Amino acid sequence: MIIKIVYDNKAMHGFKASWGFSCFIEHDINLLFDTGWRYSVLRHNMEKLGISINDIDAIFISHSHWDHAGGLKKLKLELEFDKTKIYVPPSSNLEGIKISNEEFLPNFISTGEINGEQSLIVRDKDKIVIFTGCSHNGLKNVIKIAEKYGSIYGIIGGFHDFREIDILKKYKIVMPCHCTKLKKEIETFPNAIECMAGKVIEI
Ligand SMILES: [Zn+2]
Ligand SMILES: [Zn+2]
Repeated sequence: MIIKIVYDNKAMHGFKASWGFSCFIEHDINLLFDTGWRYSVLRHNMEKLGISINDIDAIFISHSHWDHAGGLKKLKLELEFDKTKIYVPPSSNLEGIKISNEEFLPNFISTGEINGEQSLIVRDKDKIVIFTGCSHNGLKNVIKIAEKYGSIYGIIGGFHDFREIDILKKYKIVMPCHCTKLKKEIETFPNAIECMAGKVIEI
């Protein structure tokens, strides 16, 4: 699995930083997790990472907040008709396929919506990687659901006001992105990776 951070408050040289989050997951299929806020920033960073619109097989939206789904409208206009499946939380008024806690594509599992937000669980053989938007659904709830699918290798995304950060030390990687109150504290952990648009991780 290759993970490319497309959108974050922080950016590497040559990439644009903007409030929001998005990442591109290359696995059995290529999935774009959230779209960030500004479409121009999303497109700029995608291009820099060598991701073309036609590479996107599926889009998973964690929740309908503007900083996660803001880029979706314009992105949809550029997608080839019918090719890309868009998965959205059931309570949102976004257009797309509404899913619950299920494996909606091989090795791609939604936690189901809790408090307006769903997180993504991606399985790579016996490893599980969790992707979160803002974690309005509570990171602890997400971890509990993900544990049923395998052993958690890493967590990437926004952790919101998650406080029991010490439990994150046991994972191989932890990447606190946009919307993580205790980001600085988590970044001191030896397993932490700094989140920035332009970063590529291979698992
Ligand atoms: Zn957010
Ligand atoms: Zn949010």
